Amino acid sequence: MTTVAHILAAKSRDIVTTQPHRTMAEVARLLADKGIGAVLVTGADGDLLGIASERDIVRAISRVGPSVLDDAISRHMTTRVVSTRPDSTVTSVMEEMTAGRFRHMPVMENGRLTGLVSIGDVVKHRIEQIEHEHSALREYIATA
Ligand code: AMP
Repeated sequence: MTTVAHILAAKSRDIVTTQPHRTMAEVARLLADKGIGAVLVTGADGDLLGIASERDIVRAISRVGPSVLDDAISRHMTTRVVSTRPDSTVTSVMEEMTAGRFRHMPVMENGRLTGLVSIGDVVKHRIEQIEHEHSALREYIATA
């Protein structure tokens, strides 16, 4: 069974974070600059306070209007963050993302943030795995 650790090994361990007092506009700019869909919000000692995704920003703008871009991100982020562990299987992550209807999961190890997996990472990994299985099967058939 492939685990979250396999995915993390194949990607950069840089985790993009922001602070709770940053404005929605600043976070929107950060997401755009980094080409990502969500950012983790951490406290002064690196503890995980929440997650803010582009969906939170879009929802807030539609509810309140563009003035919401001046609000602190802490007012609109999700604070009940579902995380995973390096030894969790990729399949379980896929199931949790589907059930929770979110596309990002922080990875925690001994209470410390060690990475972030996105639905894009999970799908990329599954496609590579399926292609690998297909070529092994083709080779098996060709040499049988
Ligand atoms: P996403 O699909 O990841 O862009 O996020 C959709 C919604 O779920 C947003 O409100 C996010 O703040 C929230 N969200 C994203 N990831 C998680 C997570 N791991 N745990 C809990 N909520 C999340």
